[in-house]
Amino acid sequence: MTSIRLKTPHNGEYDQPTGLFINNEFVKGVDGKTFEVINPTDETVICSVHEATEKDVDIAVSAARKAFEGAWRKETPENRGRLLVKLADLFEQHAEDLAAVESLDNGKAISMAKGDVAASAGCLRYYGGWADKIEGKVVDTTPDTFNYIKKEPIGVCGQIIPWNFPLLMWSWKIGPAVACGNTVVLKTAEQTPLSALYAAKLIKEAGFPPGVINVVSGFGKVAGAAIASHMDVDKVAFTGSTVVGRQVMKAAAGSNLKKVTLELGGKSPNIVFEDADIDNAISWVNFGIYFNHGQCCCAGSRVYVQESIYDKFIQKFKERAEQNAVGDPFHHETFQGPQVSQLQFDRIMGYIEDGKKAGAVVETGGKRIGDKGFFIEPTIFTNVTEDMKIVQEEIFGPVCTVSKFKTKEEAIKIGNNTNYGLAAAVHTTNLNTAIEVSNALRAGTVWVNSYNTLHWQLPFGGFKQSGHGRELGEAALNNYTETKTVSIRLGDALFG
Ligand code: ADP
Repeated sequence: MTSIRLKTPHNGEYDQPTGLFINNEFVKGVDGKTFEVINPTDETVICSVHEATEKDVDIAVSAARKAFEGAWRKETPENRGRLLVKLADLFEQHAEDLAAVESLDNGKAISMAKGDVAASAGCLRYYGGWADKIEGKVVDTTPDTFNYIKKEPIGVCGQIIPWNFPLLMWSWKIGPAVACGNTVVLKTAEQTPLSALYAAKLIKEAGFPPGVINVVSGFGKVAGAAIASHMDVDKVAFTGSTVVGRQVMKAAAGSNLKKVTLELGGKSPNIVFEDADIDNAISWVNFGIYFNHGQCCCAGSRVYVQESIYDKFIQKFKERAEQNAVGDPFHHETFQGPQVSQLQFDRIMGYIEDGKKAGAVVETGGKRIGDKGFFIEPTIFTNVTEDMKIVQEEIFGPVCTVSKFKTKEEAIKIGNNTNYGLAAAVHTTNLNTAIEVSNALRAGTVWVNSYNTLHWQLPFGGFKQSGHGRELGEAALNNYTETKTVSIRLGDALFG
């Protein structure tokens, strides 16, 4: 059986595929293995899904290769675009179910899950629009040569995604890859396979030829590693931790030197100047760290506040954080649901204990909520020093540190005091400060008087150890195309 009937808290029932989606069919894994999917809200088992091993990855890669060399190669750019737009429409038609599955499996608040579905549709439609606008160039060199430069698809793309935004990462990866004419084998995170399989049903319904998009559930060390080291995968795109990003890059280097793009961790500074609109800044700082339960690679986890407003800021920020509605993700008022898994919960609580031991002060939060489900209070640490683990390492939970700075120069220096460089933010009403600090921060995205306002039209990715390459926007097309130069000799032979 590769599908079951599942109940969602308020939505009734739907058909949840559980198989591996290969060649437009849901199939069992070759070894017949399955694994359980846990509901982070109450720690019960939602269902089991089929697990891909190396053998299944091989089958999926063969299907993707066959599609790449066959039907997909012959498809016009216009039709590639049409299919992606159709898929976006289907996401919108199935928005209620998709959001419910996402909340059930990941624990994210239903209002946020709906936002993810809308943004996924937006992203797919956007790349549908790009499909017939991927153009080359003619370059004149000498009068007896005609040169043209073409953008061609890379081939079979392995895509490994994390659990924090399962549907969104699905569309960020599949949209540009398919628009450019590649085929895909995508592996979801073992914590959250369900929404991706639901979305896989829509691939077939949209009319994609078999093998163009294959979606497998499985573990990182098995299926993920098999993709990263596969000799017939031409490119791997990975989103996840910096530790695993390094392993993916090594596996690529040790196999067929496949192209690699990485979107990794962060420890992003959120800098508040004394001239900022303080209430506005607090709303964004709050959203910057607690959105998606702090499980964002770009979370604004290091907050720096100018000395003269520090005390007032702490008092107001604490009040704001304590108002965040934490609880049942299916409740429409909920802002923060549970962390995704026991492992993540334990990691975060470990960091909180570590911060306390190091002498940091818990201004608010720091504790588990209830005794079922992986809920953690929104937590603010003060009295921190730059060398503390809670200031340097990515916690990936609802925990931030707040410290003071005196001058703009100091803010820039401490803002950049990290191995990461994914995002940053500046809160100020002074245009010069906004531009000067934004330009000086070593980060792939800088928000001014806002936070986490990502958009599919805008490139996203990291400086330093936050990654390689950019997702979203036109920039992502570079990650999914090879550049070919064709140089035609028009004149006589050069020699003789
Ligand atoms: P996190 O620590 O947040 O769970 P990971 O980086 O471990 O993030 O996981 C992100 C994705 O990478 C998941 O799909 C996971 O299965 C996959 N993954 C984990 N380990 C490996 C590996 N060694 N090779 C390839 N993929 C992996």
